[in-house]
Amino acid sequence: MSPEHRHLPPRPIAAIRLDGGRLCLDFVNTIHDRYAEEIEDYLQQPQRYMEWCIRAGALHPDDGVRLPRAAHRRTALMREVEDLRHHLHELFAARVDGLSPPADAVRGLDRWLHLAWASQSLGADGHLHWHADARDAWLPLKRIALDALDLLGDPATSRLRRCANTTSCGWLFLDTSKNQRRRWCAMETCGTIEKMQRYRRGR
Ligand SMILES: [Zn+2]
Repeated sequence: MSPEHRHLPPRPIAAIRLDGGRLCLDFVNTIHDRYAEEIEDYLQQPQRYMEWCIRAGALHPDDGVRLPRAAHRRTALMREVEDLRHHLHELFAARVDGLSPPADAVRGLDRWLHLAWASQSLGADGHLHWHADARDAWLPLKRIALDALDLLGDPATSRLRRCANTTSCGWLFLDTSKNQRRRWCAMETCGTIEKMQRYRRGR
C-alpha cells in the first residue's frame, strides 16, 4: 500500500471480499495483501471484528452477542483473534506447501477446539447447543476453529490453494472450479494485476 493510502477511511465491512470458500479461510484472509510491505488488517477494531463475523456467518444476529464493555477484555479478545488467525494461517499454509504444521499452531487450534466442545451440550433433539454463557464475543472463534478442524480432515484440502499473486496477496482459497485450475483469489483483482503485468512485459 502506498503511503497516500494510509489515511483512507477503513474499507467498509460490506465491501470485504469473501473468496476463501470456507469461513475459516475467509477469517485467515482478513489480512489484505499478506505479503505487502504495509498490510491492511480488516479486523483492527473490536466493532469491525463483530461486523465481519456477522457478514461471514460466524455470528448470527439471533446469537445476541455483544462486545465486552471493559477495555482490557476487548484488548484480550483482539489478541486472541490475531493469535487464532495467525495459527490457522500457519496450519493451512503448511498444508498448501506440503510441510508439517508448526507445533504452536497445532496447539493453538487444539485449545480453541476444546473450548468450543466445552461450550456445547447435547440436546434432546440430538444436536449440540451452545451454552448460554458461551454466547459472547469469543463464540465466533469457536465456530471458526470447528470449521478449520472440519476442513483439515476433509479430502477437499487437496484443493486448498494460495493466490498466485505471491508478491503481495497471499490469500488462501478452496479451488472448487471444475477443472481445478483456479490461480487467483479473484480474477477481477489479482488475476487482472497479473494480466496487466504480462501485457506491459509483452510491449
Ligand atoms: Zn489474490
